[in-house]
Amino acid sequence: MFPTKDSEFDRYHLWHPYTSMLNPLPCYPVASAQGCCITLEEGQELVEGMSSWWAAIHGYNHPRLNRAMTDQITKMSHVMFGGLTHRPAVELGRELLAIVPTGLTKVFLADSGSVAVEVAMKMAVQYWSGTSQNKQKFLTLRGGYHGDTYAAMSVCDPENSMHSLWQGYLPEHLFVPVPQCAFGQAWEESEADALRAAFTEHHHTLAAVILEPIVQGAGGMRFYHPQLLKRVRELCDQYDVLLIADEIATGFGRTGKMFACEHAHISPDILCVGKGLTGGTMTLAATLTTDRVAEGISRSPAGCFMHGPTFMGNPLACAVAAESLKILAEGAWQQQVSSIEQQLNAGLGPLIHHRNVKDVRVLGAIGVVECHRAVSMAEIQAFFVEAGVWIRPFGKLIYLMPPYLITEQQLAQLVAAIAAAVEQDALFR
Ligand SMILES: *Cc1c(COP(=O)(O)O)cnc(C)c1O
Repeated sequence: MFPTKDSEFDRYHLWHPYTSMLNPLPCYPVASAQGCCITLEEGQELVEGMSSWWAAIHGYNHPRLNRAMTDQITKMSHVMFGGLTHRPAVELGRELLAIVPTGLTKVFLADSGSVAVEVAMKMAVQYWSGTSQNKQKFLTLRGGYHGDTYAAMSVCDPENSMHSLWQGYLPEHLFVPVPQCAFGQAWEESEADALRAAFTEHHHTLAAVILEPIVQGAGGMRFYHPQLLKRVRELCDQYDVLLIADEIATGFGRTGKMFACEHAHISPDILCVGKGLTGGTMTLAATLTTDRVAEGISRSPAGCFMHGPTFMGNPLACAVAAESLKILAEGAWQQQVSSIEQQLNAGLGPLIHHRNVKDVRVLGAIGVVECHRAVSMAEIQAFFVEAGVWIRPFGKLIYLMPPYLITEQQLAQLVAAIAAAVEQDALFR
């Protein structure tokens, strides 16, 4: 017999992200979510500091997003994309192409961020397969994160994603050290030395560089200097190597620009978006590329791009994504993100002097408090819930990336909860 109590069933039968089935951390049951609040089954309200992992940029239960979904659901939730097309996909394509960096003209709709990265890497390899060159390696930065499927994992930080576990199974790619020059600091030209060396030595085998522009997210919440991204673009041009920008976390305004690439005034050859694409309502991602890459792929031996998921271009997801992009296009996010940035700087900044805090950094609507020691997950999670906030740290990092429409008061509550948490030595290991 399976447990009749929901919490017990969940505990013994449902896998959660990165969780042990022997010793899972507690999970808090959610009844509903509205705006910037999550309501637990037991009635407690939590101010949302995570946007459900970068996704819920407009908050929860947004009337316009809901309407887009309910309107579409009465027409069709899904039809296959092979041989058929529909308004929601076309509309989403138009909205996307209007805001992405210049040169990107072709959209591939994928199911999730990791799949969008797989698609990007396949595009790069297939692009070169049509030429006489054997370019199948990828170059990336240590400290990155690109998803959990195999190809994506192969370009994640080798230690964080435990490459040792998959040795012999995972393709081996090239890594340069974690960027040291932080956003807002002085640029040191030597920062690009490792990149230059890697290009000089390996350019003839490199299909692409793949990286998260400006913000390394799940790999450590680091903000690096735009000049590094500029150098990568220059080297890619010089040596004829493609550049894949994974903006799955950074896209759609989070860093204060619509896309983080704009901080360096560059365009990638391939762009991955996801997470915030549907305003956090459903899973959908996209891989965009240029005419040149799309034409190269189409002239490659296969004659087409070799990818086509069952739920490609899901109309429900496309409809809500198109509406989310319309909300963004109206532009309120710019003021909202800039207010969040100011308040995070003012509120989290002073914590840098605290004995438990190693570093505080803020960029756009992202605030990070890096501690000296790793947090005790179960304890700090309970502490935050008790404080009426939803903040989910990892390792030494306590961080915020709230929905853009968060009020000053709600953000103050998140900041106060972090300030109170770093006071508690018992919450650290
Ligand atoms: C989350 C994330 C992914 C993976 O997206 P999923 O939808 O979880 O598969 C890839 N790249 C970056 C930069 C991400 O933040």
